[in-house]
Amino acid sequence: MMKTMTCRELGGPCDHKIRGNTPEEMMENGMKHLKIEHPDMSKKMESMTKEENEKWRADFMKKWDSTEEIGMDSDEDFVME
Ligand SMILES: [Zn+2]
Repeated sequence: MMKTMTCRELGGPCDHKIRGNTPEEMMENGMKHLKIEHPDMSKKMESMTKEENEKWRADFMKKWDSTEEIGMDSDEDFVME
């Protein structure tokens, strides 16, 4: 099950689309995007306290759950990176 979220939904500043089959994959792809496009934010994420990190994850999981899965016939144009 493939889902798409925007960088903004993950707490980032742009509307770049990030996709993943699992929450873990989505987080990983999101972090990759942050490292390349928003290195300052990436550093901030890495220096989050355990508490902040758990809060972020809980929030992320809520958004993940409320995000629609996209079908294989989706005509959204994705760019593989
Ligand atoms: Zn971004």
